[in-house]
Amino acid sequence: MNIHEYQAKEILKRYGVTVPEGKVAFSVDEAVKAAEELGLPVVIKAQVHAGGRGKAGGVKLAKTMDEVKEYAGQIIGMTLVTHQTGPQGKLVRKVLVEKATDIKRELYVGIVIDRAVSRVVVMASSEGGMEIEEVAAKFPEKILKEHVDPAVGMMPFQARKLAFGLGMEGKQVNKAVKFILGLYRAFVETDCSLAEINPLVITGDDDVLALDAKMNFDSNGLFRHPDILEMRDVDEEDPMEYEASKYDLSYISLDGNIGCMVNGAGLAMATMDMIKLHGGEPANFLDVGGGASTDQVRNAFRLILADPKVKAILVNIFGGIMKCDVIAEGVVQAAKDVELSVPLVVRLEGTNVERGRQILNESGLNIISASDMRDAAEKAVAAAKGNL
Ligand code: ADP
Ligand code: MG
Repeated sequence: MNIHEYQAKEILKRYGVTVPEGKVAFSVDEAVKAAEELGLPVVIKAQVHAGGRGKAGGVKLAKTMDEVKEYAGQIIGMTLVTHQTGPQGKLVRKVLVEKATDIKRELYVGIVIDRAVSRVVVMASSEGGMEIEEVAAKFPEKILKEHVDPAVGMMPFQARKLAFGLGMEGKQVNKAVKFILGLYRAFVETDCSLAEINPLVITGDDDVLALDAKMNFDSNGLFRHPDILEMRDVDEEDPMEYEASKYDLSYISLDGNIGCMVNGAGLAMATMDMIKLHGGEPANFLDVGGGASTDQVRNAFRLILADPKVKAILVNIFGGIMKCDVIAEGVVQAAKDVELSVPLVVRLEGTNVERGRQILNESGLNIISASDMRDAAEKAVAAAKGNL
C-alpha cells in the first residue's frame, strides 16, 4: 500500500527523522491559512501517489500570499501528468504547504529489501533529486549500500559510513546518523517494503531534512498497523483493483483485450505468457486464489466484464484445492447476472472436471471449450480478434 508524502512525513517525524514544517490543505483557503501559520516563503506540493511532480509543475515556490493563492488554485484540481502517472495523469485533490527550505545539497537515501541476500539494504547517493534508477544505470558506483544484519539491526557505524560517503562533515554527520537510523527504525517497525527520501537535503544551517518522502507498506503486515491502514487513499488506486481487493482477489489491470480468470499466481502468469505467445494481449492479471468460493468467482467474472477493453474472456482453471464445479457454478451465475457480451473460452482440468464441464454445457451459455492451455490461448486470441 502507498501513502502520500504528507502522511509519510507524519510517520517519519515520530521516528526522529527531520522534515520541514508543513500542513496539508484541501482548498485554496486552507492553503492560505497554512501559509499564514507557517510564514512565507512556502512550497506548494501536489499530493498524489506518484513522483516526478517537480518537473511536471506540481511543486511551486510561493513568496507572497498572492502566489500561494495562485499556485494552490492551479494545483488543486489539476490533472498532473508525470512519468510515473501514465499519460492519463492523476487528479490532485490536496496539496502540502511546506516551509521553503534553503537547500545547500540534495542527496538520496532509500531503504528496500534486497531479495538476493534476504536483507534490508540502506542505499545512499550524492545524486539527490535524480531518479535513482537513472543513477543506477549511469553511475552505479555512486550508490552506496549498507546491508543490515537482521539479528542486530542497523548499527551506528553503518550510518556513519554512509554519511561520510556522502561527503558530510562537521555537525552534519551526527544529524545524518540520527536521520538514517530513524528512517531504518521506521522502515522495520511499520513493515515497509520501501522508504525513500529523494531528496534528503543539507540546509544552509547544516540541518539534514527530508524534503520528499515515499513509503510503501507490505500489505501482509498492515493488520498490525490500523493507524497506517487509515491512511489508505482509495482515490489514488485503480478503481477495479480497489473493487477486487474487497473480495480478496489479486487483480491487476493491464492494457490488452483478453480478460483472464485463473487460479494461482503461477498459472495466471503462464496463461498471460501463452496469450502473448499467440499474438494476444491480456487485459488483466487475475488470480482467484486456491480456495475461492462461488461468490468470489462471480465477482471476479463481473470485474472482468466491467472492463470495456475486454473483447474475449479466458477462464483457465486447474482444479486442485479449487474444484472445477465451483468455478463452473460461479461462471454460470455471473454470466447470467451480467449480460455476457463477449466470447468466453474455458479450459478446465483437475478435481470434478466432469461435473464442471456438465454445468457449463447445461448452462445454455455460448462457451468455447478448450482442451489444453495452448488451445485455450489460440482460441482466446482468435475470439478477441473476432475470428471465432
Ligand atoms: P518529486 O520527487 O515528486 O518531484 P519532491 O518533493 O522531490 O517531488 O520535490 C521536487 C523538488 O522541489 C525537490 O527536489 C526540491 O528541489 C524542491 N522542493 C521540494 N520541497 C521543498 C521545500 N520544502 N523547500 C524547498 N524546495 C523544495
Ligand atoms: Mg522527490
